[in-house]
Amino acid sequence: MDIQTRLVHAGEERINGAVVLPIFQSSTFVSPKEEEYHDIRYLRLNNTPNHRALHAKLAAVCGGEDALVAGSGMAAITTALITVLNSGDHLLIQDCLYGGTHSFVTQDAPGLGLSYDFIAGNAPETWAAKLRPETKAIYVETMTNPLMEVADLEAVVAFAREHGLVSLIDNTFASPCNFRPLRIGFDIELHSATKYLNGHSDIVAGVVVGSAEHVKAIKHKLNHLGGSLDVHACFLLQRGLKTLSLRMRQHDENGLRLSHFLAEQEQVAQVNYPGLESHPQYERAQRLFAGAGGVLSFELHGGVEAAERLLSKLVLPASAPSLGGVETLITRPVTTSHSGLSREELAAIGIADGLVRVACGIEAAEDLCADFAQALAGV
Ligand code: PLP
Repeated sequence: MDIQTRLVHAGEERINGAVVLPIFQSSTFVSPKEEEYHDIRYLRLNNTPNHRALHAKLAAVCGGEDALVAGSGMAAITTALITVLNSGDHLLIQDCLYGGTHSFVTQDAPGLGLSYDFIAGNAPETWAAKLRPETKAIYVETMTNPLMEVADLEAVVAFAREHGLVSLIDNTFASPCNFRPLRIGFDIELHSATKYLNGHSDIVAGVVVGSAEHVKAIKHKLNHLGGSLDVHACFLLQRGLKTLSLRMRQHDENGLRLSHFLAEQEQVAQVNYPGLESHPQYERAQRLFAGAGGVLSFELHGGVEAAERLLSKLVLPASAPSLGGVETLITRPVTTSHSGLSREELAAIGIADGLVRVACGIEAAEDLCADFAQALAGV
């Protein structure tokens, strides 16, 4: 069935005739028989009816054997990484990453005995030189934040297979509506479900999807670490997922229309959006993705001062980090998502002080463009 139908129907259970699965606000459940620790039904063990329904829906939607929700995107990412990597192991990881993942890998992973090397997502010929006998995994993001680079994702899968590595991808920026990484051979798909999957900026949640074996191992670790998703958040995520494909269509349209609009404005120096023909990986994005999503970034000729003036004049976008909600959000990454990076790190990945990131919501595209037009007029 089409993804839209799976989003609505997969994993749904009609309990006592209720069309919508209610919230099972119970930390523990009666055990039918003597069970093993991991068979006990207990909220931290991620196996309440609300968790099970979500896992079934997400596995069906992403095309994995199994899925797991976690207390945040970071809980999903860090738990997956420390499951596939043991002390002494080495990781190859893309050089431009979500700030939280970057901080975990550079600041926390070494203390756990894990080492890493950064790789350039679009230079597969340089990856082999970084391999070590203890390299166990390779990790990328579908589109990098905030420059919207699309790594050579097919090369990542081929390289992982050739060298026996586990391939992990943070697919938050595409959502399973725009890209399904397991289909092209990735082993583990990760999401900050805080973003598009939930879609309403009212919870934090994470998702892991993959083979039954990988998900079982990651769930085992998550159960010990305790990063489970509360049932009320499960309920909201399940509700949000049902409209994901409708929302993604509008995010895609708004991202594309606003990118085109900005690219035509004389005050704008550069627009980064994989749906624009000028984007260096436009052809790859067209081939692999159903849409380029709602996030774009741009620089103004006037630098930081012009960016600050623009932000102060915009009416619709809220000045806040995050993305994937129904309302448009706007930030300057150096002061928000990437504030933890040093000046050298920012320069190395090409994030300018004046860069502005827009996460388009699902407002009407013409209203968003009109708002940017009036704000640019005053810059
Ligand atoms: N991955 C990406 C691409 C993100 O943008 C974020 C949050 O902004 C995360 C992971 C972390 O997710 P969470 O905030 O749900 O822990």
